[in-house]
Amino acid sequence: MAKQNGKIGVTTDNIFPVIKKFLYSDHEIFLRELVSNAIDATQKLKTLSSFGEFKGELGEMKVRVTVDKEAGTLTVSDHGIGMTADDIDKYINQIAFSGAEEFLEKYKDNANAIIGHFGLGFYSAFMVAKKVEIRSLSYKEGSTAVKWECDGSPEYTMEPTEKTERGTDIILYIDDENKKFLEQAEIDALLKKYCRFLPVPVISGKEQEWKDGKYVDTDRDKVVNASEPAWTRKPSELTDEDYRNFYHELYPGQEDPLFWIHLNVDYPFNLTGILYFPKIKNNFEVTKNRIQLYCNQVYVTDSVEGVVPEFMMLLQGIIDSPDIPLNVSRSYLQSDTAVKKISGYITKKVASRLEEIFRTDRADFEKKWDDIKIFIQYGMLTDQKFCDAAMKFVLVKDTEGKHYTLDEYRTLIEGSQTDKDGDVVYLYTTDPVAQYTYINAATERGYSVLVMDGQLENHFIGMLENKLDKSRFVRVDSDVVDNLIPKSDKRDVNLTGNQREMLTDVFRASVPKVEKAEFLVSFEALSADANPILITQNEYMRRMKDMAAMQPGMSFYGELPDSYNLIVNTESPVIKRIIEDADKALLPSLQAHFDAISAANDASEAIRKEATDGKPNEDQQNKIKSNDEQVTHLRGEIKKDSARYAEGQPLVKQVVDLALLANGLLRGAELNNFIRRSVALL
Ligand code: ADP
Repeated sequence: MAKQNGKIGVTTDNIFPVIKKFLYSDHEIFLRELVSNAIDATQKLKTLSSFGEFKGELGEMKVRVTVDKEAGTLTVSDHGIGMTADDIDKYINQIAFSGAEEFLEKYKDNANAIIGHFGLGFYSAFMVAKKVEIRSLSYKEGSTAVKWECDGSPEYTMEPTEKTERGTDIILYIDDENKKFLEQAEIDALLKKYCRFLPVPVISGKEQEWKDGKYVDTDRDKVVNASEPAWTRKPSELTDEDYRNFYHELYPGQEDPLFWIHLNVDYPFNLTGILYFPKIKNNFEVTKNRIQLYCNQVYVTDSVEGVVPEFMMLLQGIIDSPDIPLNVSRSYLQSDTAVKKISGYITKKVASRLEEIFRTDRADFEKKWDDIKIFIQYGMLTDQKFCDAAMKFVLVKDTEGKHYTLDEYRTLIEGSQTDKDGDVVYLYTTDPVAQYTYINAATERGYSVLVMDGQLENHFIGMLENKLDKSRFVRVDSDVVDNLIPKSDKRDVNLTGNQREMLTDVFRASVPKVEKAEFLVSFEALSADANPILITQNEYMRRMKDMAAMQPGMSFYGELPDSYNLIVNTESPVIKRIIEDADKALLPSLQAHFDAISAANDASEAIRKEATDGKPNEDQQNKIKSNDEQVTHLRGEIKKDSARYAEGQPLVKQVVDLALLANGLLRGAELNNFIRRSVALL
C-alpha cells in the first residue's frame, strides 16, 4: 500500500482537545481501555482458532505493558488478531459522531459515559499522549504490517511497516502533563486496580528480588493478574478455602467472611460474582471495602449504588456483568429496568441463600447471628421484598442465649404473655446487665425476655409491631412486672387521700438528687413478694429519647429530663410497716392541716354554688383566690413536716435507694451514704 494521509471521520472538527478538556477527572482509565482492547483481540483469536478459522500457531497469548522512560513511551502489545489497513480504516478512522459537543458537556465528569457512548476506548489514549502509534499485523494470511500515527490533530498517517509478529502494539508518546504514567510503580498500581482479574495474562516489568541491599529486576516477567478469578469458575470446583482465599486477596487484612454467595445467571441478563458477608465491627465502618463492579473481568468501579439494593452495600465482593450500562448517569441507572431486575435478582438470591444456610446448618447460622443481625435487620427495614423473605429466618434471642424464629417465639410466649386485650406482649431488654432486676422479676414470673441491644433495634421493633398481628413490644423495665402484661383489672390500693398525700411527700423527700432525672411517686397494690419500690420509665418517652439520640432534629426529646415512675408497692410488708409508722407518728400531726384544707376547699365550693349562673362576682373570686392560696400554703406545710419526718426514717431512704441502685441511678456521694446507712442498719 502507498502512504495514506487522511482525516479522522468525526463531525466535530477536532475531537482531541475536547477529549483532553473534558476527561480530566478520569485520565487513568485510558490504560484500562487499551489493555481491554488487547485482551479482546487475544480472545478473538483464541475463539477463531478453536473454530478452526485460524490454523496458525497461537504462540504466547499474553498482553504486555512496557514503560520506556527514556523514549517517553508506554506501549501495550498483544498477539491477538491484529488489524489490516482496512480494519484500521473501519474501526479507528471512521468514528461517527453526532451531537458530540452537547453530549460531552452533559457528561463531562463521567469519562466512562463518554467512552462508552462513542466506543471511544482507543481514543482515550489522547487524554495522556501527544502522539499515538499503532503498529499491527493481522492474523489474516498474506497481510502486510501497517503503521498508523496521529499527533492529536484530526490528521493521521497510515503506511506499511516492518513487523513480523502477529498482533498489535499501541505506542503512546506520553505528554508533559502526564509524565507519571512513565513510572513503573504508577502503571503497576493502575494495572492492579483495573486489570487484576483479566482473563489473559498481563505482563508489566520484571519480577524483582532483594540483592545487595536493594530490589533489582530479575529476568522473569511480572504477571499482574490472576486470569481465572474465583467468580468465573464453577461453584462445584471451589472449596471453602478457595472462597476465603479469594476474599483475602480482595480485601487484605480483613477477618474471615461469615458467608458467601456465588452468583451466576445467564438469563434474562448476564451476571456472575461472589458476594461476601463480612464480619462487621460494631460501628458502621463499611465504606472502605466495597463491592466492586466488573464488566467481563475488567474493573469498572466500586460505587455500586443503584446496582445493588442499598442494604447490600454492607456486603463485599465482586459483581461482574456486561449488562449493566456503564455509560449512563447514576440517576438513570437507578431507573433502568435491566438494573432493577439485577438488583431484584441479587436481593432474591441473598435471601434464599440465607434461608438455605438457616435450614441446612441452623447451629452455624445461630452462631453467626450476632454478626449478621445488623445486615438482616437493615435489609428488612429498607427493602420490602427482602423483609418478606426474611420473616422466615430472622432470629430473636432471649436472655438465656436461645434463638428463635418469629413463629417459634410467638408459639412459645403466646400462652403466658397474652394480655387481657388479646395482644401478645414481647418483653425485651436493651441491656441485660443494667436491667437485671427487671429481667429477673419477669423470668421468675415465667415470662421470656428478648435481648435487643443492636443499633437498629429501635426501628426494627417498630417494624415488627407493624408486621406482627396483635403484638406489642414492651421494654422489661418500663413498668412493674404485674403491669408489663396486664392480665385482669388491678387490685385496689388501700389508702385514703390524706395518706396518699402524706406518703407521696415522705417518699418524694427521700429521693436523693439525681441529675437530669425527675421522679413521680405513685402507689400500686402489687404482689407481696414483689420489690417494695420499683422504678420504671415510660416506654413511649424512652423510645423517643433513644431516637433523638440517633436522629438530628429530634433534640427536643433529648433535652427533656428523664422522667421515672417511682412505684410504691402497698402490699409489700416493708411498705406496710412504713405506712403504719407514718400513720402513727406523722398523720395525727398533719390532721389539722388536712382539715383546714378541706374547710377551705368546702368554702370555695359553697361560693361557686351560690354564684348566679355559676359565675362568681369579683368579691367571690377574691375569696376563692385567698382560699386557694391558703390550700397551697397548707400543702407546703404538709410537705415540710413530711420531709422533716422522712429525715429520721432510714428505712424509707433505704428502700428508695435500693430501687435506685437496681437501676444504676445511685452514684457518688449518694451511693456512699447508702452504704454507710446500710452498715448502720446492720
Ligand atoms: P471498542 O473497543 O469499544 O469497540 P475502541 O475505540 O477501543 O472501541 O476500539 C475500536 C476497534 O478497534 C475495536 O472494536 C477493535 O476492532 C479495534 N481494535 C482496537 N484495539 C485493538 C487491538 N489491540 N487489536 C485488534 N483490534 C483492535
